[in-house]
Amino acid sequence: MSKLPKIGTSIFTIMSKMAAEHNAINLSQGFPNFPVDKRLTDIIAKLASENVHQYTPMSGYPPLLLKIAKLTNQSYSRVIDPEAEILVTAGATQGIFTAITALIKVDDEVIILDPSYDCYEAPVLLCNAKPIRVALNDDYTPNWENIENVCCSKTKMIIINNPHNPTGKILKQSDFEALEKILEKYPKMLLLSDEVYEYITFEEKHISTNTREKLLDRSIVVSSFGKSFHITGWKIGYLIAPENLMIEIKKVHQFLVFSVNSICQVAISEYLEVVSTDDIKKMYQEKRDYFRGLLHGSRFKLMPCEGTYFQVASFAEISNKSDINFCKRLIIEHGVAAIPISTFYGDGKDLSLIRFCFAKDSATLEAAAKRLCSI
Ligand code: PMP
Ligand code: GLN
Repeated sequence: MSKLPKIGTSIFTIMSKMAAEHNAINLSQGFPNFPVDKRLTDIIAKLASENVHQYTPMSGYPPLLLKIAKLTNQSYSRVIDPEAEILVTAGATQGIFTAITALIKVDDEVIILDPSYDCYEAPVLLCNAKPIRVALNDDYTPNWENIENVCCSKTKMIIINNPHNPTGKILKQSDFEALEKILEKYPKMLLLSDEVYEYITFEEKHISTNTREKLLDRSIVVSSFGKSFHITGWKIGYLIAPENLMIEIKKVHQFLVFSVNSICQVAISEYLEVVSTDDIKKMYQEKRDYFRGLLHGSRFKLMPCEGTYFQVASFAEISNKSDINFCKRLIIEHGVAAIPISTFYGDGKDLSLIRFCFAKDSATLEAAAKRLCSI
């Protein structure tokens, strides 16, 4: 009998595979196609012949832990204990899985906001706990009243994703105030704050949970170097959490992976000496504006994009097919792959919306836009 009967193959795998089979331009799964910063590739090439190939300590390569603490202080003025409060993980995915399985017990309830990224529900189900899906408002702001209405003594965790995949929405000061009010009433509730796109934000300023004094003692903040440094395949991320939670999370981590890829940790640690997170923002803002400009004359209606490297678009004017079928036709007939937004909903809600990834070089964006404008 399956432990996860309703979980199938991820839509990112399905769409990328289909894009490859049909030789389509792949704007579906979120990954950059432009070269990695030469400073980083030079570092890793140099490290190949150095003594960096054995296990790092379980929590992470100690100089990297120090650099993450420094970066967190520079970005959010938060002072953290690198040994006790940081865990380097095999991407954010493993960090999220590890935190949920370490902290959630049978019959606990975990609030997940719809639409949401796909990696939260499976670990909750594996704990024999209950995911409670609460829809975001139509403009993708959280509906705090509905969220409060589902909170009860069983609610153990709420998961937020800020900036938000797939909608690109960023939480505002008023959202944090509402969240803090709810959490005050439920002292045992934890907050899992997925901030993997923290450095990919545009006009709106990203407010990190790391800056919310009232939330720190119960929050697990999730980051990913894969997103920040365009190295999704390296699978290096990290968690920040208070020591009492981290002790539990590390108990699981040590038996899931024990420690994470050593050479990549050393390389990122050295790279953090020279890189600026401001450059990331600027580069993606240009890509967002360029891609939106290219699609201006098309029949796709573009939604606002405040952060992440995803652009959501409505195809309602073009077709009344389901979003999944529309994406399949888009690959087969027009040679462009995108992600149907219904797959981010617990109930598969279909609003004729699809997601394009614009983390691509200009030639790819131009070629894709030319095809999209001809529909
Ligand atoms: N959370 C969100 C919102 C994501 O979009 C992703 C990656 N697409 C992850 C977590 C997982 O990140 P990683 O690749 O570092 O595991
Ligand atoms: N996070 C990526 C996205 O949203 C997908 C990563 C994956 O395929 N697991 O497209």
